[in-house]
Amino acid sequence: MKKILLGILINILLSQSVYSNEKTEDYEFIDLSRHSRFKTFSNDKVKPTFNNNTVEWYYNPKSQHLSAFQQEDIINAFKNAMQSWSKVSGVIFSYKGITNNNIKAGNDEIITVGFWPENTYNKDFGNFSGTGASMWRTEEKKIFDGYIVLNAGDNGDPSVPNTLNDLEGLITHEVGHLLGIGHSDVEESIMYTKPYHSYDFQRTLRQDDINIARLLYPINEPVKPISGNPPICDAGLNPQTIKAGEGTTLWWWSDNVVSASINNGIGNVSVPSDFVWILPKETTTYTVTAKDANGATTTCQATLTVESETPVSGFPICEVGVDPQVISAGEGTALWWWADSVVSASINNGIGNASIPSDYKWIYPKETTTFTMIAKDSNGVPTTCQTTLTVESVNSASEPPICELGADPQVISAGEGTALWWWTDNVTAASISSTSKNSTVTLPSDYFWIKPSQTETYIMNAVAEDGTTSTCQTTVTVK
Ligand SMILES: [Zn+2]
Repeated sequence: MKKILLGILINILLSQSVYSNEKTEDYEFIDLSRHSRFKTFSNDKVKPTFNNNTVEWYYNPKSQHLSAFQQEDIINAFKNAMQSWSKVSGVIFSYKGITNNNIKAGNDEIITVGFWPENTYNKDFGNFSGTGASMWRTEEKKIFDGYIVLNAGDNGDPSVPNTLNDLEGLITHEVGHLLGIGHSDVEESIMYTKPYHSYDFQRTLRQDDINIARLLYPINEPVKPISGNPPICDAGLNPQTIKAGEGTTLWWWSDNVVSASINNGIGNVSVPSDFVWILPKETTTYTVTAKDANGATTTCQATLTVESETPVSGFPICEVGVDPQVISAGEGTALWWWADSVVSASINNGIGNASIPSDYKWIYPKETTTFTMIAKDSNGVPTTCQTTLTVESVNSASEPPICELGADPQVISAGEGTALWWWTDNVTAASISSTSKNSTVTLPSDYFWIKPSQTETYIMNAVAEDGTTSTCQTTVTVK
């Protein structure tokens, strides 16, 4: 229940936020005029990317049983699709495990991928097979949230992938969107859409895709040694530490050499500089041996650390945030938190014990405040997380009352329930009426769990301090 509300709250607030941009890409029948952001790759001014070229992601298995695939195969399809992009650029993907986090929850800064049932999917995204999206703040140009939602096809949609290879192809295209890449006007690209290529085609990146991936996520360039007459070389890894089963890029650079080779089964490599994608199972030192025209040799080394896979659950994690992140003095904000594998948690600045795993509290701080959450697992191992709320001072004239009323879900079957939620601003009193009831409600935002037996319209009457009123309404359809 709390989770439902939290999602609603954040979505409402996100829709009013001025500092977030969301770009949603769907899979078919796209209006291309809305998707021209990277149509000309080199001239684009806004190129939001992931911090440190790193995408940490989670998988939500909730609706996967509706698709034709096994969980492990699906996760591997995601990993393979992501590796296709890592193999050709500097982007790094790190799988963080299973989550029950809402895949599309905006602004929670948890990259989540997974499936939605066909009906839900079509209602939200239209009649497509998959959607990839990323969100960034204009001034930072850093992607802070994103998702990939796939259509589970449980109602028999014939266009969703029905083999793992096709699934990987679809995901490879959607990972492009997650990375901030739009549709391409180059036909020889997996991001081309006039018309879309087959899933099989989309499984293999083309030169155009590689170009944009490297533009956004450059491979860490080696620091070039000062050039001289003797043969010289340099080698490195990106990333330098991986988990077993993950891959990495081994790069090298040389000068005054005519040939080079690398040990550990790599063999002869091109000079002066190139890179190769490798998948070592254990910590390995790579030695590059380079020769000049006279047969003089030089060597350089890079050591990759491979960590054994640690179980994802059992490691305490927490996340705390405020939404909105910037308010004016006198306004409120939702302080929300989420924790996993912890037995207790508390937040400073007078909040105290925080109920786990997740909850929120409506707060009205008068000044800019940093909230720190400390959460402990059963062994007392602590983890901390922080968020800072910015409070701007204003001299505000009286503002008009605003209300918003909705239901989630909006359409139910007889006997089912739904969350009737509301959000208000500048409102001191409010009530909700339907054909059978009239109730005053908690401000500024809350929800009721309702079970109407027939289609019902709910009307909210909200009153501001100066007596001005505002109304809003929503209809719950009972099938
Ligand atoms: Zn697309």
